[in-house]
Amino acid sequence: MSKFLDSRYSGLAAYVPGEQPQDKKYIKLNTNESPYPPSEETLAAVNKSQVELLRLYPDPDGRALTKKIAELYGVESENIFLANGSDDILNFAFMAYCANGRKSYFADITYGFYSVFANLHGSDYTEIPLEEDFSSDYKKFCGVDGGVFIANPNAPTGLALGLDAVEEVIKSNPDNVVVIDEAYVDFGGESASSLVKKYDNLLVVQTFSKSRSMAGARLGFAIGSKEIIGDLHKLRYSTNPYNINRLTLAAGEATIDSQSYYDGNCKKIIETREWTISELKKLGFEILPSKANFIFAKNDKIDGEKLYLELKEQGVLVRHFTSQRIKAYNRITIGTPEQMQVLVEKIKDIITEAV
Ligand code: PMP
Repeated sequence: MSKFLDSRYSGLAAYVPGEQPQDKKYIKLNTNESPYPPSEETLAAVNKSQVELLRLYPDPDGRALTKKIAELYGVESENIFLANGSDDILNFAFMAYCANGRKSYFADITYGFYSVFANLHGSDYTEIPLEEDFSSDYKKFCGVDGGVFIANPNAPTGLALGLDAVEEVIKSNPDNVVVIDEAYVDFGGESASSLVKKYDNLLVVQTFSKSRSMAGARLGFAIGSKEIIGDLHKLRYSTNPYNINRLTLAAGEATIDSQSYYDGNCKKIIETREWTISELKKLGFEILPSKANFIFAKNDKIDGEKLYLELKEQGVLVRHFTSQRIKAYNRITIGTPEQMQVLVEKIKDIITEAV
């Protein structure tokens, strides 16, 4: 740290993303990417003529893509906000609604970036403990006195709240913004996007990083009331109006045009998830019922960190978290059926050696 850094940031603990190793080729099941490539349409959209156009700035409002997303979700373009990944949107939401001592509420076990953004913006935040079984008693988020952030399905647990529970939270907080982070909703969750017309305090956040195979392109979007979307644009225009590059916009448009390909991938991933769960249960794993493209699993026969390290040694990368409440678990992204077969075989060997 330099002596020049503002004292506000000196104690900031930055977010630690999952490993993106460059040393060797792993079966990469650690950051919830899609195992399937973008569609042919998406690949074709990022062509030579688009690259030639890189000398020009992109449309700062991404109007063509915004319109396509609005049509897909049955809302107006004014209800859609695009950003450089959904992390960009979460950052703006904390900045807009929970900064400088304003309050925010999120679960104790959830996406790790919420507390980082809360600290970055000086939010007075409360982590609401999940139940013993990691389920969420949604009533604890009802009628609070600050912004609410709920990942649904939750990460890293994969557990999802039903739409009725989500609506209760939104309805009971009319004076605060409720952010429903739906990064994983396409793998079996229920989206709150249909409630945007009914509640002006709702912001639904989604991403192209998981179900739409575009993690490397950085594209997220949010659906909300015109007023909330207007707030976010104001902050975006006050930081970086060209936050989405031209190639990503082109890829995003072609991706929405080939939505059925991505729906097919989600179906495959859900099937592979269920196969993986049943195979790992046979090996004695306890696994939370997941509505996401990952599972959260532990096995009393082997320590969570030991399993993570041994798998890594053997070329399979999963995600292990060191915090007390979840250190027995590993979060395992669902890959292709072939990748998951390798995972199951390797785990079988590791466990046999461990006992
Ligand atoms: N929300 C949740 C719950 C996530 O797990 C992630 C992925 N790390 C994100 C948001 C951010 O995804 P991205 O910025 O790639 O859209």
